[in-house]
Formats: sequence, structure tokens, C-alpha cells
Amino acid sequence: MIEYWNPQVERLPADELRVMQEQKLKNIIKYVYQHSPFYRTKFDNAGVKPEDIKTLDDVTKLPFTYKQDLRDTYPTGMFCVPNESLVRFHVSSGTTGKPTVVGYTANDVNEWTKSLARALTSIGLGRGDVLQVSYGYGLFTGGLGLHYGAEEIGSSVLPTSAGNTERQLELMQDLGTTSIACTPSYFLFLNEVAKKETINFQKDTNLRVGILGAEPWSEEMRKRIEDSTGIKAYDVFGTSELSGPLFTECLYQDGIHIWADQFLVEVIDTDTGEPVPEGERGELVITTLSKEALPLIRYKIGDTTVLNTEPCQCGRTHPRIMRILGRVDDMLVVRGINVFPGQVESVLMNIPEVGEHFMIIVDRVNEMDSMNVQIEVTDEVFSDKINDMISLEKKVASALKSVLNLSVKVELVEHGSLPRTVGKSKKVIDKRKL
Ligand code: ZN
Repeated sequence: MIEYWNPQVERLPADELRVMQEQKLKNIIKYVYQHSPFYRTKFDNAGVKPEDIKTLDDVTKLPFTYKQDLRDTYPTGMFCVPNESLVRFHVSSGTTGKPTVVGYTANDVNEWTKSLARALTSIGLGRGDVLQVSYGYGLFTGGLGLHYGAEEIGSSVLPTSAGNTERQLELMQDLGTTSIACTPSYFLFLNEVAKKETINFQKDTNLRVGILGAEPWSEEMRKRIEDSTGIKAYDVFGTSELSGPLFTECLYQDGIHIWADQFLVEVIDTDTGEPVPEGERGELVITTLSKEALPLIRYKIGDTTVLNTEPCQCGRTHPRIMRILGRVDDMLVVRGINVFPGQVESVLMNIPEVGEHFMIIVDRVNEMDSMNVQIEVTDEVFSDKINDMISLEKKVASALKSVLNLSVKVELVEHGSLPRTVGKSKKVIDKRKL
């Protein structure tokens, strides 16, 4: 039985959805032109006026917006409302330069909550569920976002936030957690600690759903997680600039539904700026259709994905984007070859002897790039049978070479020797940048 939070909108026929999007696009373009000197200048410089936007296809006439724009106008230079209209701020940590500040009106928080209410319902959550939110609360949007969405659909929230893993497991058992939201790497860590304490998720807890995201993870990793813990693991997507976590896969786990009445998605060729044919990988561009405080027009998130507008088996008519394998920023260029950490993960997770933790180390020695991959192996594999170890190293190196087209040095390390994290994991050390 498929449940919907808002069946009327979620199953709206595609042509009606398009009409709705067109109207909302025209409205938001007029709105930002009136309320944001930033956008007015940007549109004027590009020679485009709100009246030029008559159909959805006209969106391509509009200039892109970049994360750098948010940094350049720090803290609130792109906002369309005065500060007294805001009910909340979130701030994303800037690894480089200034952080970005996101402001929300009451209606923005409401729309965000609605988006997640639909998403959480689409993976079968509702009244009677207990969602353990192990994303960080605070300036980071993960915790509060899921929190509001789950309360909206009548689930109880256990706001554990990140960290204190033993306590997380204790509360999970005592309060009957049925679902957990955290990064995939934290879930793996939780699973390790659970094993040490001989807690079996299947037998000793009610846990059946994981809402995992905030870092890229592969289909192969999903299989690992589902097979080893018995839960169903769903991908969640969003970013603080768009409000926070917003969308998940539905029960069919075949792409993430983007609510078309709230957001307009494009997938474009980064070099030409033109849309790529449906089914091909390109760069994700999103326009917010209902945000008041900080609308974003043709925002380049920096993720690559594939668009799918085919109807979904779940009956929802809203478009889907396929699993995000990495941000454009995460891409490594090693000896001229593009490498996404997600590709490495996909290869490794297909090799049964390999554990879930790995680290990519890129360096430059004698003007030549080198890439080493340290991989944790299971205790049974990490033995003193040197020959077995060497043959496994060779097997992994050759699997990586066939996919990446790059020679990689593989080093097997003992289980538990790579760092664990409660938040986003760091899988790459690029010594060329240090
Ligand atoms: Zn679906």
C-alpha cells in the first residue's frame, strides 16, 4: 500500500504540473527582480527582463547563480526580505573562504517541512514510527530539517544529534527507534559498535529504515549496508542553500523525487551550459519556486546527476534525479584523469574481502601524481599469510585500474585502523594541496 502526504499534488498529471511550474517560475522571477538588487543587476547585465520569461523553456535565458555569489554577498546581501521577516538562520561551514548564510521566513520553514513530510511518507514512515535524528543539530541543517519533517507526519523524533554512539544504541533499543537519519559513514560506525556490544539490529531493535546522506555514497555501499544490517537504506538529498535536506528516494529506490511545485530542475552540460539529453549525466541546476527569503535562480549546486522524468512505479509524477556520485568539487584529477571518490567506493564494495572503510591519498612525487588507496580488510583476511594479502592487493588494484583507467597502489590495513567520524567522512587526502 503506497501512502502519500499530499496525493493530489504528488500525482498531478505531468501537463498540469508543467502549467503550475510555469506560473510559479514567472512569479518568482518577477519577485526576485523587484526585491533583490543582486538579481536585478544580474538580470540587467545579462539583458533579460522578467517579461522575457513566458514559458518554462525560457529559463535558459536566465544567468546562473553560484555558491560564490552567496559568499560575495555575505552575510545577507542576496536576501529578498528584511531581517525582521526571518524566523531562522542556518550557516554552512566554509571550507574555503566565507561561510554561507541562509535565512528562512515562516513560510520557508513551512515549505521545507512539507517537502520532507512528503519524502518521509514516501519511504513508509508515519504515525507510530520513531525517527532517531543523528545528524548534527545547530547551524547545520540536517538535524532540524528531518526533525520538523518527521513531526509533521506524526512520527516521534528522538533528537540524539551526532556522536555518543553507545548512548545512541541504548536509546535506540529502549525507545524503539524504527528509523535513523545520519551519514552512511556514521551508520557503518554505529553498526561496528553495535556488533562489539553484540547488538543485532534485526533481533534487538525495531530499526528498519535508514535515511542516509550528506555525503556521496554508492549503490554498492547501499547493498552492503542492507545486507549486513537488514534495514532498507534510502538516499536523502538537499543542501543548506536550498533549505537543507529536502528529498529522498521513494520505496522503489530508483531515483530521488524532486517536488516540481517547489523546485525546477535542469541537468546541463557544464561546458556548453545547454541541457543534456534525458538519461545522460550532467550538472544539476535548481531554481527555487516557492522560497521567500533566499530564492535561488538557476543555482549551480556543483553536483552531477542524471534526470529521469518517466513516471515512477510509486505513482508520483515528479521528476527524479539519479544518485549523486560526487560534487564537481570532489573530483580529483590524477595524471590528467578524472576520478570521483564514489567510483572508487563502487569498485571496492564489489569485492567481498574488502571492508567498508577506505582512504584515498593523492600525492606528487618527482613531478608525477600518485594515488594510493588504503583499505581496511576483515580480520580473517588480515592475516600473516603474506601471499594472500599480496594477491588481494593485486586483485583490488586491477579492479580499480579497469574502471578508473589509472594505476593505483593498494595497501591493505587492519580493521579499525582508519579514522571513524560522526559526521561527514573524509575519504580523500590530497597532499598536492597541503
Ligand atoms: Zn517513486
